[in-house]
Amino acid sequence: MQIDPIKEQERLRLNREYFEEGCACILKNKTLQPCPTNMPDLKAVEFYEKHCSCSRNYVTS
Ligand SMILES: [Zn+2]
Repeated sequence: MQIDPIKEQERLRLNREYFEEGCACILKNKTLQPCPTNMPDLKAVEFYEKHCSCSRNYVTS
């Protein structure tokens, strides 16, 4: 099965929004800076997934 690039883009955009609107690291603890708006969603999401340490992060390691 192939990944639909449009759906993938949409997923990334939504994930970015999800972090930027609800991540306590960004909004409360200020341990994370929101990525610049000109940063591609893929990069921003990768960054948030890697650095977010609140319950918002869905990545389990
Ligand atoms: Zn967070």
